[in-house]
Amino acid sequence: MSKIYSNVMLDLETMGNGPDAAIVAIGVITFDIEGGELGPGYYNRVSLESSVQGGGVIDAGTVSWWLQQGAEARQEIARPGGLRIADALHQTAEWIGNTCEEGVQVWGNGASFDNVILRGAYQRAGQTCPWSWWNDRCYRTVKAMHRDVPIERIGTHHNALSDAASQAAHLIKMLAPRPPDGWAVMSEDGRIITWYPQQDHASISAAQQYPGAILRAMRLEPQ
Ligand SMILES: [Mg+2]
Repeated sequence: MSKIYSNVMLDLETMGNGPDAAIVAIGVITFDIEGGELGPGYYNRVSLESSVQGGGVIDAGTVSWWLQQGAEARQEIARPGGLRIADALHQTAEWIGNTCEEGVQVWGNGASFDNVILRGAYQRAGQTCPWSWWNDRCYRTVKAMHRDVPIERIGTHHNALSDAASQAAHLIKMLAPRPPDGWAVMSEDGRIITWYPQQDHASISAAQQYPGAILRAMRLEPQ
């Protein structure tokens, strides 16, 4: 039996930026935070006409933004042959159901973006969203808390599956336990008296020289 995943990164390409934005591509990829690995992914292009018929909204600013993006990403969403939104939603739900556990956590790039837009599309189509609202997770928040960990792009920027893979790999890197940069001898009032690159005999005996001082793992702030 193939592995069942508990985390999915979702990326949508849309023609809007509000909660009811018209969807033109859906990319999802599974990943394993503890194992540090990306799993299988799933991707569908969606016909813009069907998205708009289904209540999706086009925003002029987003269309202008798309016109300035790379040719490969633009051609991918402009070429004909995308699935109807109802079929894309159904197939994505089926794929998540077969590949992930019931309580799967779904990550999007922004608390108000991918997850909200896709859930709204499921509601308008009269279909069941394949994950629970309490399992919404925000990649953008984690990214803001780890500005020192760079993202490495996989594939084509602004292709939904490439973006989902890049973001999932970035999230794994950000959540990986990191060794401390050093060990600080700290006074009772929280001042750093001195620090050592590792927790060894020298750092422990230095901490013992100062009454009330403690030895604490420390991270250096990125420049
Ligand atoms: Mg994208």
